[in-house]
Amino acid sequence: MKQKIKKRLDRKCTVCGNAIRAVVYTNRKIRSGHYFGKIRLYRESELKKMQRSGTHKSKINKDWIADVYNYDPKPYAHAEHWECPSCYWRPKTKVNPLNKDALRFTTKKIKRKQ
Ligand SMILES: [Zn+2]
Repeated sequence: MKQKIKKRLDRKCTVCGNAIRAVVYTNRKIRSGHYFGKIRLYRESELKKMQRSGTHKSKINKDWIADVYNYDPKPYAHAEHWECPSCYWRPKTKVNPLNKDALRFTTKKIKRKQ
């Protein structure tokens, strides 16, 4: 069965910054890119404030307690979070630590909503 290409998207990998040329098929499957939805972008000063604020234990659901930062950083923008295939399959260690923290923080927020 042949899939039809709906559109091509030029995106940037949020993790490593490499260009992604994703192909979107009509059945909504995406090739050569992994889309995780919208994420919040934070300024470095906001993230530093967050890291200095310390954490507290927060009950997310009945069997999950997580460390949550005391300070909620204010996002300056919302962006799409994309990962290139190499970051998706083989997570690299050279991720900007502040960026990584922001991603983890965002993931936590998303999980908390469920
Ligand atoms: Zn990447």
